Amino acid sequence: MYDYYDELGIGRETLLAQIKSQMSEKRFNHVLSVEKEAIRLAEIHGVDPQQAGLAGLLHDYAKELPDEEFQHLIKKYDLDRDLLNWGNNVWHGLVGIYKIREDFNLEDQEILQAIKVHTVGSSNMSKLDKVVYVADYTEETRNFPGVDEARKLADSDLNRAVAYESKSTIRHLCEKNVRIYPQALDTYNAFIQYI
Ligand code: GDP
Ligand code: FE
Ligand code: FE
Repeated sequence: MYDYYDELGIGRETLLAQIKSQMSEKRFNHVLSVEKEAIRLAEIHGVDPQQAGLAGLLHDYAKELPDEEFQHLIKKYDLDRDLLNWGNNVWHGLVGIYKIREDFNLEDQEILQAIKVHTVGSSNMSKLDKVVYVADYTEETRNFPGVDEARKLADSDLNRAVAYESKSTIRHLCEKNVRIYPQALDTYNAFIQYI
């Protein structure tokens, strides 16, 4: 069987140690829970559990990177300069994949894409993208109003789960009076039909 740890060229213990070195204990526990939930959802919905698990483990790898490093990566890889007008919440997925590519021997474009869009989604998500986007929201340590409904939808209908999470996130951002990244609105517009 094809093994993604072979592709990385490092064993699980080394991978976990590297991830752990980049983040707080609390975030590391979140990452382990997202791995578990992504594998569970992948098995329900016919997605490769190895891809889902690895995407789950790496999805927040760049979350604690300093702003200056993200700004540097945006310029180094000649990414859309509009990204400079945003912050860590938007960067850690969309730009974080460049840090992951630098630190790991990971060229699986499907995994990288799922990590890329795990926060803002996209109007055209693969099943793997949806599993990671939803698992980040429904993993067992999450505890917020509506999480039980999100978990029910996650098990029964991935599109409805994405719609529910996108709508809840946008409502939450509106209530906090913060700007919404246009791609997050694209996700809402593409998925709200499934609510
Ligand atoms: P986490 O990394 O596990 O905490 O979860 P996410 O990557 O899904 O989200 C990180 C943060 O980004 C959360 O606080 C979201 O509410 C926030 N967020 C999601 N979409 C947007 C957006 O369009 N704009 C802004 N400013 N924040 C967003
Ligand atoms: Fe995240
Ligand atoms: Fe996360």
